[in-house]
Amino acid sequence: MALADILSDLRWKKFQVLNDGFVCLVDCMGDDGSVVQAARVSYGEGTKRVSDDRTLVRYLMRHRHTTPFEMAELKFLVRVPMDCWRQWIRHRTASVNEYSTRYSVAIDSTQTTMPHEWRTQAEQNRQGSGSPLPADLGEKLTEDEHHFQVTARQVYQKRLEAGVAREQARKDLPLSTYTEAYWKIDLHNLLHFLALRMDAHAQQEIRDYAAAIGENIVKPLFPIVWEAFEDYRLGGLFLSRLEAGVMQRLLARPRPGAQYTLEDFLAVQDESWRSLGRSRERDECRAKLERLGLLAPVAT
Ligand SMILES: Cc1cc2nc3c(=O)[nH]c(=O)nc-3n(C[C@H](O)[C@H](O)[C@H](O)COP(=O)(O)OP(=O)(O)OC[C@H]3O[C@@H](n4cnc5c(N)ncnc54)[C@H](O)[C@@H]3O)c2cc1C
Repeated sequence: MALADILSDLRWKKFQVLNDGFVCLVDCMGDDGSVVQAARVSYGEGTKRVSDDRTLVRYLMRHRHTTPFEMAELKFLVRVPMDCWRQWIRHRTASVNEYSTRYSVAIDSTQTTMPHEWRTQAEQNRQGSGSPLPADLGEKLTEDEHHFQVTARQVYQKRLEAGVAREQARKDLPLSTYTEAYWKIDLHNLLHFLALRMDAHAQQEIRDYAAAIGENIVKPLFPIVWEAFEDYRLGGLFLSRLEAGVMQRLLARPRPGAQYTLEDFLAVQDESWRSLGRSRERDECRAKLERLGLLAPVAT
């Protein structure tokens, strides 16, 4: 399908996220060609002979030559619960206009959680979630959530009816209340947002938004850029100097079975690692070696 047709299909199409949120493309300036065109200004016509568009985009992404990706811009309309929005708005390189609850009555919708969606606190990662909570407990939590959200809305509504200013009446609305905003950002900073917010370390709810933007909107509009982004950012694996050292020492050892063991891994730690103790950094290194299939997975 021609790019113009893809764009006209996508504009104003709402992709649902969570129970009542959405992301929707309002406008887009540029395509894969805009990135290539900008890069060729800096590299000169000579580049054309040695690299086609795809090769050039992949080179730029690999080597973090970022400015050509700033030549494309996307504008979205998003509906997001306020707790998620608080994380989203930290990305300062976007232009934002948000629905005003000083000016207008707050959107009468809250993010709700299904009984099977409640998660335990992660034991290792203090910022993250663990496994799902039992179903019967989930039922109770969802019921409590419903009562709380209904009560909070009633309190807000009563304040408005009593003549309280909207800017003051809103103060006890829960963070689950949806807000809406126009969000405009260039492709480079959007990919930075997606790399951080599609990552396993990001909260599940904002990951759902990032995936909706990435998979449904950026991928079809910028197929060559998206492929390079998947290859070098989302699916790439960065090794620090310390991690590369661990890997080199590990590979220098005879491997008794199909994979190295945790004991092998611990045996190749040098002083710089030992001084870190049982650190998160070492756990992350172990996870990378597991991902590469070098190390047998360790139950945590
Ligand atoms: C998993 C995760 C956990 C997080 N936890 C926390 C937390 O506990 N507490 C917390 O406060 N935040 C937290 N954050 C937010 C994080 O610290 C960043 O504020 C957020 O991800 C935005 O990233 P950014 O600044 O790179 O993006 P943008 O604001 O879009 O900026 C993009 C890039 O532009 C440059 N830039 C932008 N503004 C400036 C500036 N004023 N000065 C210099 N350079 C600038 C920087 O290079 C920056 O990387 C977390 C983020 C993630 C993804």
